[in-house]
Amino acid sequence: MKRECLEIVEKKCQSCRACALGATRHNVVFSDGNPETAKIVFIGEAPGETEDMEGRPFVGRAGQLLNEFLAEAGISREEDLYIINTVKCRPPENRVPTDLEKACCSKFLKAQIDIIKPQAIVLCGSTALKSFMELDKKTTISKIRGQWLTISVDGVDYQAMTIFHPSYLLRNHSMEEGSPRRLMQQDLAQISSEILGVKNGKREFSAV
Ligand code: SF4
Repeated sequence: MKRECLEIVEKKCQSCRACALGATRHNVVFSDGNPETAKIVFIGEAPGETEDMEGRPFVGRAGQLLNEFLAEAGISREEDLYIINTVKCRPPENRVPTDLEKACCSKFLKAQIDIIKPQAIVLCGSTALKSFMELDKKTTISKIRGQWLTISVDGVDYQAMTIFHPSYLLRNHSMEEGSPRRLMQQDLAQISSEILGVKNGKREFSAV
């Protein structure tokens, strides 16, 4: 049922030219994961070059690194997540999407969340976070990551956690205590435990 509803939204998205990104994309990057079983909607920023060519989110180097972190936390990308981006078309040179582009694309983002109605939303990086929350200058991703927040999407409240974007981790290799990679492990382990019931590598409750 969710799949059918999403197919209707995707059809509109595939022909969308509401912002300038529609003119330069190779493919609309709509989603990945399993809409029927996903308890978590996972939101990134925008497609990169590989995603644009393949039409799937998080399949480039950053996506491969993300897969490693997810597997380590006991999170199944194929079953536990519905993976989307804030904007569905690639910004040239991988620049950050503009406010206008985000506003144009938000109808698709909101529709996807509304259809899935997830137990939790993971905001991957600052672009995803700022789509739902105004940040003052002192509030950085480093300060806000790892905390459960409440975000409102078309009047419905969801619990959401911000994590680092894996492209940031590609530039930060340290595994020392307190390093971005260690914090990413910690955040995904918390999400896995509290939302999916994974404890010591085993599920204490069903993922569906
Ligand atoms: S980024 Fe979103 S709003 Fe812009 S053309 Fe692509 S689908 Fe349409």
